[in-house]
Amino acid sequence: MKTKRNYAVAIDGPAGAGKSTVARRVARDLGFLYVDTGAIYRTVGYHMDFYGIGPRDTDGVNRLLPDVNISLEYVDGVQRMLLNGRDVTDEIRTPEMSAIASAISAQPAVRAYLLELQRDMARRHSVVMDGRDIGTVVLPGADVKIFLTAAPEVRARRRFDELRAKGESVTYEQVLRDLNQRDHQDQTRKIAPLRPARDAVEVDTTGLDIDQVAAAIEALVKERLGSL
Ligand code: C5P
Repeated sequence: MKTKRNYAVAIDGPAGAGKSTVARRVARDLGFLYVDTGAIYRTVGYHMDFYGIGPRDTDGVNRLLPDVNISLEYVDGVQRMLLNGRDVTDEIRTPEMSAIASAISAQPAVRAYLLELQRDMARRHSVVMDGRDIGTVVLPGADVKIFLTAAPEVRARRRFDELRAKGESVTYEQVLRDLNQRDHQDQTRKIAPLRPARDAVEVDTTGLDIDQVAAAIEALVKERLGSL
C-alpha cells in the first residue's frame, strides 16, 4: 500500500507579524490544514480565568489543567476551539485573553500538556502551524520553518486595526505597549521562548503585503518539497 507522508510548515514570530493571515493563506493554497496554536493557549487561559485562577498561580493552574479538554474543529475551513465541548472561538480573541495566554504559556505544565495535542495534529495531517515554538520545540523536524517579523510599530498598527474593526475600544499606544510586553514575556520565559530555529528562514513583513509574503513562503515550500 502506498503511504503518503504528511508535510509540515512551521511559522513562528512575535504578535502581529502577520502569522495567522499568512499561514491561513498558505495552508489554503497548498491544501494543508492551518493550525493556530496561539488559540490553544488562549483556550487554556480562558478556562482558568473562568474559574478565577490567575495565569501565574502555578498550583491553581496545575490543579485545573486535567479538566481542560480541548479539541479543534474546522467549519468551512475555519478553526474553531472547543473547550469541554463548548465553542469559545470568539471569546478568546480579546486583549485580556492575549495577556492571560502569554502569562499562562510560561507555565511548564501547560506547555507539556499541549505538546502532544499539537504534534498529533501534524501526525494526522499536512499542516501549516503557527505559534512561537513550532520550529524549535513542537515540530523540530518540520519541512519548512519560517520566522516572521516586522517592526513593532507596524505590528501594533495591524493589531490595532484588527481590534478596532471588531469594535474594541483600544488606543494605538495601549496596543503597542501590550504587544511589547507580551513579546518580552514570550522571549524571556525559561521554557520554549520565542526565537527563530537555527534552520528557520527569517521574513521581515514590514512593507510587504500578504500576497508577497505568501508567495515568498509558497516558493520556498515548493523548492523544498518539489511539486506537491
Ligand atoms: O498567537 P497568539 O497571539 O494567539 O498567542 C497568544 C499567546 O500564546 C502568545 O503571546 C504566547 O505567549 C502563547 N503561545 C505560545 N506558544 C505558541 C503559541 C502561542 O507560547 N506556540
